[in-house]
Amino acid sequence: MAIRLVILDCDRTLWEHEDVFTLQPPFTRVDGQTVQDAQGEKVRLAPGARELLDALRRRGILISLCSWNRADLVFAILDLLGLTQYFVHPKVEFHPHKDRMITALLAELAGEGTVLQPEEVLFVDDNPMMLEQVRQGVGPVRTLRAQPDVLDLRNVLKVLDEQN
Ligand SMILES: [Mg+2]
Repeated sequence: MAIRLVILDCDRTLWEHEDVFTLQPPFTRVDGQTVQDAQGEKVRLAPGARELLDALRRRGILISLCSWNRADLVFAILDLLGLTQYFVHPKVEFHPHKDRMITALLAELAGEGTVLQPEEVLFVDDNPMMLEQVRQGVGPVRTLRAQPDVLDLRNVLKVLDEQN
């Protein structure tokens, strides 16, 4: 089954920062890849992030987010980088139950007529416990670990090409 939805974690996956919960808003844009908080601490997109998002969009593959963090912080950063509109039903909630977030995401998509099987979903996260929890709770979602180094996100496209 071809992958029709890619779900990205934020901290240490979509961007290099390990936990934006520790940052002080307001954020300001530094450049197309980077924002900084009120203290000048930077959040930089992972290598290849924009290229991945654009490539997925060109291919007609849905993109979403699943982050255990504060929604106001995450969306402030995404807005400054001009990325918010790439994501369908992004899930940014302050609890570690990513299986529940992704189950809710799939239910919302199904309610709009986009019914996806777990095998059609690729979830990318740096935390192997999260990957396992989602496989246990949602079903045989395909997973990719964005570690030990922050992944060059263009590698996600290689996974799609191998599996589709
Ligand atoms: Mg993470």
